[in-house]
Parts: sequence; structure tokens; C-alpha cells
Amino acid sequence: MNVPLLDLKPQMDALREEILQAVTRVIDSTQYILGPEVSRLEDAVAEYSGASFAVGVSSGTDALLVSLMALGIGPGDRVLTTPYSFFATMGSILRVGALPVFADIQPASMNIDPDRVAEQLKKDAAASRLIKAIIPVHLYGQCADMRPIMELADEYGVAVIEDAAQAIGADCLYDGDGREEWKRAGAMGTAGCFSFFPSKNLGGIGDGGMVTTNDPDFADQLRIFRNHGASPKYFHSQTGGNFRLDPVQACVLGIKLKHLDKWHAQRRRNSDLYRQYFREAGLAGDLVMLPSEQYAHAVGHGQYNHHIYNQFVIRVQKRDQLREFLTSRQIGCEVYYPLCLHQQKCLEKYDMPAGSFPEAEQAALESLALPIYPELRPEQLQYVVETITRFFRP
Ligand SMILES: *Cc1c(COP(=O)(O)O)cnc(C)c1O
Repeated sequence: MNVPLLDLKPQMDALREEILQAVTRVIDSTQYILGPEVSRLEDAVAEYSGASFAVGVSSGTDALLVSLMALGIGPGDRVLTTPYSFFATMGSILRVGALPVFADIQPASMNIDPDRVAEQLKKDAAASRLIKAIIPVHLYGQCADMRPIMELADEYGVAVIEDAAQAIGADCLYDGDGREEWKRAGAMGTAGCFSFFPSKNLGGIGDGGMVTTNDPDFADQLRIFRNHGASPKYFHSQTGGNFRLDPVQACVLGIKLKHLDKWHAQRRRNSDLYRQYFREAGLAGDLVMLPSEQYAHAVGHGQYNHHIYNQFVIRVQKRDQLREFLTSRQIGCEVYYPLCLHQQKCLEKYDMPAGSFPEAEQAALESLALPIYPELRPEQLQYVVETITRFFRP
């Protein structure tokens, strides 16, 4: 049996006619830059995310970059983030000339640890250094622990840019004052950054991204920076860039957005099946650490997207051998990510030795993403677990 890590074909086959009609509409309109398709998607994503405004941009990476630019972050500034994420989280900080500073992750969620964030903010304040922003990442589709992060950001006067690239629609239990409240990824920070890279839960037929915010002035700044910093047209008091979302992508994404909650639910069903099969095989726990669901305990009637499972990431010893074993048996799997951000060669000059962020470094040795996309059949998931069982018990 063949189980690919991701197969985009069933999704496209089901929507093909509707998408072709919409793309034809854009072609015939001759409105090829911004325009009504982009505005319509912006409104829909703002509403879906529970944020007041959304600004379409060219990618998730550019969503981060434009947010940093619109916050005026540049050379001499420090930006606090997780050492365990896709490179773009850190790359955008380096691109504006700022310095990335890291706070280690929580081992269970693999998201940034608010206690480590507090320590670093305190250390910087004591040394009269200035952290200008925090970028928590909602890794694999589950929100970071945002309440303490937002409280710390308030206390220290720091902006928060949510890297929600993997987490569109993920709900976060934001329990202030003993009162339970749910917020959605992108609706909590100063900015929420989304990616429509084809492998994300809401993926285009090319690159695309979006920034959400609740601040009308910040939304205006984002629109200015995505368009060369021009305000009005041909008058530039700032240097932005060409970071606009393409209307062809916008119309495709608008069609797909209507199906997103159904796809999230199918991914969660796949996660439940994996958990059941791993438990039945006696692997769950010691041999295979399953992804922890930080907010699932508070979910009633399944109405919250507490985890949207962009990736289903297990942790195992002998990860590299298991990966090879699965790959040779036609099971797709991938390591997100094999090298922490602080260990990347482009940061060499800042000398952050191995051991600086032990939890992240351990995660980089043990993480393995298994196929979780919506259209997988239960037999395929069963085959994955059977094959992993054969690896551990030959
Ligand atoms: C995908 C991703 C990005 C970048 O998005 P692109 O649209 O590919 O530029 C940034 N951060 C994280 C965590 C991602 O997963």
C-alpha cells in the first residue's frame, strides 16, 4: 500500500469545475492586481479568524516581513521567537536587519515556553536591551500558550506577531481570570501571519499569505508596506516592497475556505484513528510519543478547532532509522525540522552553541511527521501503524 505524506489531487478534483470558472472570471475581468477578489478573501479570512482586518500578501514569509516592517522593526532591534520552527520565522527577522533572540520550547506542545519568554524579557530589561516583538509560532496547527505571552507583552510593551502559517482556524483556550474563552489563531496578537503555501490546510495553487489585525491603523500600514510603502500612490515616505496577493490565488482560496472546517474535522478524525491504532498496538506512550492536544480537555461537542493538524508529529527514538524504514515501504514521512534555528549556519557569527536550547534540540532529533491529510482512508492509517509496529517489534 502506498501512503503519501500529502496528496493534493482529491481536493482539486472535487473543486475543479468551480475553480476553473472562478479563474476564468478573473482572467476575463482583466483586473490582475488586487481588486475585488482579493478584498473578498480578506473579508472572509478576517471573519473566519475573528480578527477585525485582513491584508492579503504574497506569502506567509512576506506576511511576517511586512508585519515587522509596519512595526518599524529594523537594525539594532531584538525579536524574541522559538528556536523550533520553519526558517521563515527567523529569516524575516534577519531580513529587516534585526537580531533573533530565542526562548526554548515546551517539550509536549513543541511551542514556545511562556516561562522561558518571561526569563528572556526580564534578562533583556535588566540589561537595558530592547526586545521589540515576540513571534510565537502555532506549530503543526496548535496554538502556542497565548494568554501568558500576551500578558508578558503588555507588561513589557512588546508587540506580538503570531506566526499562524500552519494554524489557520486553530482555536486557543484563552482562559483569563478563571473564565474560559476561546480565541482563534491570528486574532490575539498585534498581527497574525498566515501562509497559503499548497501544503497548508488552506493552500493555493501557488504562493500566498495574509496578515490579520484588530488595529485599523496597523492594517493601513500593512497595506502601505505591501505596496512599496506608497501613500498616496507614487509618494513614498517609507520603503516597502511588492508583497501583494494575486487575485487568481484569492479566488481559489475563497472557494477552498468554504470547505476548511470539514477538512480540519477529517484531519482530527485521522488523528483520533492514529491514537486508537497506536494504543491498540501497545506503542502509544513509551515507544511512540503522540502529539499532545493542549486544549482538547476543554472542548465540548467538538465545536472548537483546538488542533487543525497541519502536521501529525510523533516523537520517537531511532527516528532516522524509522524514517528510512517507512520510506522504503512507500509511506511518506518528513522531519519538521532537523536543525534548530539557532544552529543554522547563517547565525554562526552569533555563536549559540549546541545545548543552548535543549528542548528544541531534542525535538529536532525525535520528531517525525506522518501522513494526516483529510482524504486518507482508515486502512492507510492502519497500515502506517502496522508498519511502525513491525519496526519496533520485528
Ligand atoms: C509555511 C510557513 C511559513 C512561510 O510561509 P510561505 O507561504 O511558505 O512563505 C512561515 N512560518 C511557518 C511556521 C510555516 O510553516
